[in-house]
Amino acid sequence: MTGQVMIFLGAPGAGKGTQAERLSKQYGMVKLSTGDILRDHVSRGTALGQRIEPILSSGQLVSDEILIELIEDRVSVLESSKIILDGFPRTVEQAKALEQLLIAKGLELCSVILLDVPVDLLIDRIVSRGKVLGRSDDDESTARERQRVYLEQTEPLVDHYRSKGLLKVVAGTGSLDEVYARIVKILEKEHV
Ligand code: AMP
Repeated sequence: MTGQVMIFLGAPGAGKGTQAERLSKQYGMVKLSTGDILRDHVSRGTALGQRIEPILSSGQLVSDEILIELIEDRVSVLESSKIILDGFPRTVEQAKALEQLLIAKGLELCSVILLDVPVDLLIDRIVSRGKVLGRSDDDESTARERQRVYLEQTEPLVDHYRSKGLLKVVAGTGSLDEVYARIVKILEKEHV
């Protein structure tokens, strides 16, 4: 895999974080997960964390302004140019800001992996994860709200990236190993 920057796109519960983590380890890429970064602020009780805690708990998105600044800060200090973005961008505004940032840094967006999972399975997965991890946004009603927010604000990115020829749709159903094998196959086919 020779590309530079890869995005994992998909509804909450699609498995982005898990698959991105495994791929980043296997291919020596740096994974930036905005959800993890924001939750870390909440758990440390930083000023940002206190401000965003109610937003995360309600299943809404944190403002584009905050997210764009956060990604710019993180990307600017990275030594590696092999980056996996998990959970960013989530709005068209964020996608446009990312394009500018990548141009400024001389980085290239090589693939956008869309993990495709039916909505009922997504809710089941999130509710089970909530029982294990105790995430405040993983109860059923917040899970449904997060799906609504995804459809309204993030799904437009599917067409955005499809029109740029960057979108690769991967079925996110089945075991973690099966999904991972599909991702690797699609990426390796492209870079041989
Ligand atoms: P995740 O772990 O990716 O599901 O993210 C958990 C929560 O963090 C989301 O429900 C949002 O409240 C917030 N969040 C993460 N990434 C973004 C983003 N790119 N834009 C806005 N909010 C975000």
